[in-house]
Amino acid sequence: MVKQYDLGIIGGGPAGYTAALHAAAKGLSVVMFEKNKVGGVCLNSGCIPTKAILHSAEVYNEIKCAESLGIFVENSHVDFAKVIERKDRVVEKLRKALELSLKNSGVVIVNAAAELVGNNKISADKEIYYCDKVIVCTGSTPKELPNIRFDHEFVLSSDDVLNLKSLPKDIVIIGSGAIGTEWARIFASFGVEVSIVEFAQHLLPVADFDVSKRVERIFKTRKIKTYLCDCVEKIENKRVFLKSGAILEPECVLLAVGRKPNEVQKIDGVTYLGDVCGKIQLAHFAIKQAVKVIDGVDFDENLVPSVVYGNPEIAWIGAREQDLEEGSYEKSNLLISALGKSHCDDSTDGFIKILSRDGQIIGAHIVSKEAASLIQQITIAIQNKVSIDKLKEVCFAHPTYSEGIFESLFRL
Ligand SMILES: Cc1cc2nc3c(=O)[nH]c(=O)nc-3n(C[C@H](O)[C@H](O)[C@H](O)COP(=O)(O)OP(=O)(O)OC[C@H]3O[C@@H](n4cnc5c(N)ncnc54)[C@H](O)[C@@H]3O)c2cc1C
Repeated sequence: MVKQYDLGIIGGGPAGYTAALHAAAKGLSVVMFEKNKVGGVCLNSGCIPTKAILHSAEVYNEIKCAESLGIFVENSHVDFAKVIERKDRVVEKLRKALELSLKNSGVVIVNAAAELVGNNKISADKEIYYCDKVIVCTGSTPKELPNIRFDHEFVLSSDDVLNLKSLPKDIVIIGSGAIGTEWARIFASFGVEVSIVEFAQHLLPVADFDVSKRVERIFKTRKIKTYLCDCVEKIENKRVFLKSGAILEPECVLLAVGRKPNEVQKIDGVTYLGDVCGKIQLAHFAIKQAVKVIDGVDFDENLVPSVVYGNPEIAWIGAREQDLEEGSYEKSNLLISALGKSHCDDSTDGFIKILSRDGQIIGAHIVSKEAASLIQQITIAIQNKVSIDKLKEVCFAHPTYSEGIFESLFRL
């Protein structure tokens, strides 16, 4: 029997499942091919599992500091196997919910590797599927370096660390992007000795310099050792040789130097979405791309918020100060310790930096508890070209971190 659908989607990650759900809601017949697990990297080995482990790490950290809050906890310790079990439960629960949602929407899921054999033809499981429209969103995989390869025992990928049986005593993390930075915080919170090696001049090199410098300060207080302007020349017999001459002997290494798009055949008439495009490798970017293609809702690709999770959160949107010409902008810088809520929460580390031009916000860089939510407020303002004067008319609740945004507006 000929298998015929309005839409065929290869890859069941955020780009794929969003396209599937939105297309099905519009009444299209949809088949989605997933060779591994529905939810893709984000749900199974990316955003969700890391944040679940991070939550355990943060709770442990808070318990360690709880005495100053008047809370006494005796004999607290980490059972890492249980941390991983809980992470697995979170992932499984969300995956089941997603599978159910796809099923209830009428999306046909084919659990097999699929291959594009024409702009309307997909081959999977020895069957041919004819689809009026085809979307390919097959994602990305962790990058290796020419001189450093994953062996999955000593040199680990971001997939491997999710399933460690126990915590190492110490670890070297290569790369201080979002993944390296989040894992440095997770491991450090669990009491692992962390060293992080970064090729660039600053940690988190994609961020505004002030953010990077603050992260460096925070890492210092957490006793995370940083090697900046440095790189790993070779790894031999579990010894990590840095260009600077330092030789590190950790229990394991996390290589976190980015992700490479999976290889795909480019065929005219086929739509490619998400990480596989090699543009912005974030789940919310993949989701917005899918919504644009299916629902025709456009978005500004220059206004995709970046968030690095942990305590405090780090988030930014729009222009970085180092990219602006001197004198072409105004800036405000508010310390989070100026906010009452930060003292209530014992979370005073951080700042809100806002950059503006001609009465409009053009960029914001936040290191603070709840930074991920704060940056969303600014994203909405920038995207809708809400002037600073208009924003000043908004009533911000007290005591909150959002008040920091309000306060900053009067300093521009
Ligand atoms: C450790 C880590 C943490 C992250 N944290 C965040 C975060 O906090 N926030 C954020 O926005 N982003 C985060 N990301 C990035 C995010 O996971 C990706 O941007 C997102 O998953 C990309 O979605 P996608 O749909 O393009 O691809 P993927 O999620 O990679 O999904 C692609 C799917 O296609 C399937 N596939 C591939 N080839 C075939 C084939 N031939 N046939 C059938 N199926 C196939 C794969 O099995 C996979 O399930 C993180 C990534 C990692 C690794």
